Amino acid sequence: DKTLDIQQIRRDFPVLDQSINGKPLVYFDNAATNQKPLSVIGALTNYYEGYNANIHRGIHHLAEKATAAFEASRRAIQQFLNAKHWEEIIFTYGTTDGINLVAQTYGRRFLTEGDEIIISTMEHHSNIVPWQMLCEERGCVLKVIPVDDNGELILEEYEKLLTARTKFVSVVHVSNALGTINPVKTIIDMAHAVGAVVLIDGAQATSHVDIDVQALDTDFYVFSAHKLYGPTGMGVLYGKKALLDDMPPYRGGGEMIKEVTFEKTTYNEIPYKFEAGTPNIADVVAVKTALEYMASLGKENIAAHEHDLLQYATAQLSEIEGLRIIGQAKDKISVISFVMDGIHHQDTGVILDQLGIAVRTGHHCTQPLMRRFNIAGTTRASFAVYNTRDEIDCLVQGIHRVKKMMS
Ligand code: PMP
Repeated sequence: DKTLDIQQIRRDFPVLDQSINGKPLVYFDNAATNQKPLSVIGALTNYYEGYNANIHRGIHHLAEKATAAFEASRRAIQQFLNAKHWEEIIFTYGTTDGINLVAQTYGRRFLTEGDEIIISTMEHHSNIVPWQMLCEERGCVLKVIPVDDNGELILEEYEKLLTARTKFVSVVHVSNALGTINPVKTIIDMAHAVGAVVLIDGAQATSHVDIDVQALDTDFYVFSAHKLYGPTGMGVLYGKKALLDDMPPYRGGGEMIKEVTFEKTTYNEIPYKFEAGTPNIADVVAVKTALEYMASLGKENIAAHEHDLLQYATAQLSEIEGLRIIGQAKDKISVISFVMDGIHHQDTGVILDQLGIAVRTGHHCTQPLMRRFNIAGTTRASFAVYNTRDEIDCLVQGIHRVKKMMS
């Protein structure tokens, strides 16, 4: 373990060095997307300046170089997740795309009328709607694990929902709205005990907690690159090889085929079976650089720094009268969602923006969760490795300003 030099790290993120409304930017919207270090931006530029080419079928030098970089990224992600086989890493456009892929291929092929799918109250809309669409089409039934007042899943209720009819469980690893880290290993084991297949939405987990898909024994794991200091529009679906082999393809087109005739088309092997069309080559390549950046800092050091920020901010915000933190789970990442008596979150967000502080306000794509807490939305501050205690002091001052202006 080492203490990170945060001022040094901040120099890796040029976007942080700017003023908004005459005030130094305080970027606390990291759960929506975090900022990109120079090395990641450089990887994108290097690709376009040095070896942009379409991959896989080219025999010329640039195509081979681009293909090698693209496939090297797949190996890096395999390592990052500790997947057993490189073919288990499917490139997608993001978490949303990965969940839709599984619902539309595994779901449509293997789930049928009366089968039950379990999700939780704290799911992002992207882990609700694809399952509702599937239920509507196939006649499956959606069941929902409730959440307690601290923002933790109630496992005794989950246990009661699990029956021989449960065919699929899809749960978030870390809540984007509350910061709760769910006990996914237990959730997966309980699902497997009734023979259900499990997907874990890791969108918020990748930059904060260690992930080992073999230790978890999860069937599917999805995430987005843009939440781990990588580019937008790129994500990963991990799936166990045997499951992926049995699933029908998702989109049809180039690259996902073995042979095409008008009479009958045969499909490619995994992972290519699920990667129709020209992918996001530059972004895939740059993800490897993002993983290397995190590894150079040490994920445990990042987590330690963020934990310090979470504790500091929780203590500071808890002292503010009329402010209530939503989500007080024992196990949390550096996300603080709060509401203020008599003040709409939108007003809070606008005033904080005038002070150069970027937070997110609203329902955070978790409307059912907001309903569970009887609120329309929250103000959410979420911290990354480059944030500081000084910035949290700015937020606290900003909130006092909000209270003054709105009273
Ligand atoms: N799940 C969770 C928990 C998220 O936080 C997000 C992004 N806010 C998503 C899914 C969707 O990710 P994307 O928009 O990158 O597809």
